[in-house]
Amino acid sequence: MPSLRSFLLLAATALLSTSATSATALPHDHHDHEHTVNKRLPGTWYHPEDHPAYKLFRRDAAQTDGVVYAAVGTPEWSAGYPPAKPDPNALPKAWVDAYNAALSAGKIPKIPPSTLNGNPVYPQGFDPNGDVVCSATYKCRNNNDIWDAPDGVWGASFDDGPLDTSVPLYQFLKQNDVHATHFMIGVNILGYPEEFKMAFEDNQDDIAVHTWTHPYMTTKTDLEVVGELGWTMEIIHNSTGGRLPKYWRPPYGDSDNRVSAIAKEVFGLTTVIWNQDTEDWSIGQPGGTTRDKVDASLKQWITGPKSPGLIILEHELTNNTVGAFIQAFPLIQQNGWKFVSIAQLDGGSPYSNSPSSTGAVTPGQVAVLDGSDDSSSSNSSSSSAPAGSSTSSAPASSASSGTSSGSANGNKAAGNNGSQSSSSSSSAHPSSTGGASQGNSASTVLGSGALTCLSAFLAALILS
Ligand SMILES: [Zn+2]
Repeated sequence: MPSLRSFLLLAATALLSTSATSATALPHDHHDHEHTVNKRLPGTWYHPEDHPAYKLFRRDAAQTDGVVYAAVGTPEWSAGYPPAKPDPNALPKAWVDAYNAALSAGKIPKIPPSTLNGNPVYPQGFDPNGDVVCSATYKCRNNNDIWDAPDGVWGASFDDGPLDTSVPLYQFLKQNDVHATHFMIGVNILGYPEEFKMAFEDNQDDIAVHTWTHPYMTTKTDLEVVGELGWTMEIIHNSTGGRLPKYWRPPYGDSDNRVSAIAKEVFGLTTVIWNQDTEDWSIGQPGGTTRDKVDASLKQWITGPKSPGLIILEHELTNNTVGAFIQAFPLIQQNGWKFVSIAQLDGGSPYSNSPSSTGAVTPGQVAVLDGSDDSSSSNSSSSSAPAGSSTSSAPASSASSGTSSGSANGNKAAGNNGSQSSSSSSSAHPSSTGGASQGNSASTVLGSGALTCLSAFLAALILS
């Protein structure tokens, strides 16, 4: 409750300075000041809890699913998650079961992982722009993924938080009474719990998934993908009263039909890319862009055509990335953009089991997919004819491994959606109306315990 805390601080400061000025003229000596007022401070100076001032700052407490989770930021909370890259051989059984069920139901296309060679590269015979692979890095658009905003709409999102540099951004958004989607890195949530709480509790912004350690996801094996997404969902779920995030964004925009299907079929996650990229993450880096160029790009897009609407890749990574947005915001308003979060532009909640950051939460249910369930498969890509050799052996020399510092940076080497040409083919927003794959699944309401959340992930398949 930062707002209450800061209010109390303010009140205390006001008290202190009043009593000080009554005694001496300004400027006063700092030490004397503190010494004097400590003596004068009454035993209880704060307002009783029924004082009207409380109403000015109280926020609705978020409802929860009824489970008592470890308080965010405590050692008990931190102990629940991998400190670095998740071990694909030590995943919760419920996740692996859900993955296996989706696989045997034919919902996960058999595409080999890419290898990183500048950009992700696929083995011969797998065309990154073809129907089978459809790599977002190569600008192939899976119709189930979100790339564009509706006309006239500014889909606000920021990647790579939470960090200390996120704070001025959160303050600014709140001051202006607008909301954004924050695609958060799992290890950054571990490292910056206070900033996380600020985004969720204070701003009541959308919390979404940006993987656990920020790798190129197409270089990962299926189970590595499950771990990167699963642990990030887990920490968000357990730190938001049991909410299941509905959206994820692949680091570097690197997804393909396989990764997108795992996200949707195992975890109920919709993939969100973007249609403009400021490359703000590279400001100040060798060969990177400059703040001036970022400002110019933003201005160009803000004052440009409104069809399709904009989803711009922006980061809460540095003061420059945050500052560029803050500087551009008045122009966004002046040009009549409808400024909303990704969930808002997609017509709903950021969470699959709750209407909002404060609304009721549906407790998790276990949906055991047995593979015979083909009732719907939600919106899995129809184009994904399984093609040949699957390899589970991770080839990837995965360069990146995010650390809890801001080192998990924002973007790729080249090639991705950098250019303007938002080849806005399909305007369609994948209305993530997944007809759920419930089928003949056993459902159990769980009370608590480690698997609650994990099992609850599967509820996304029911509820989304
Ligand atoms: Zn990122």
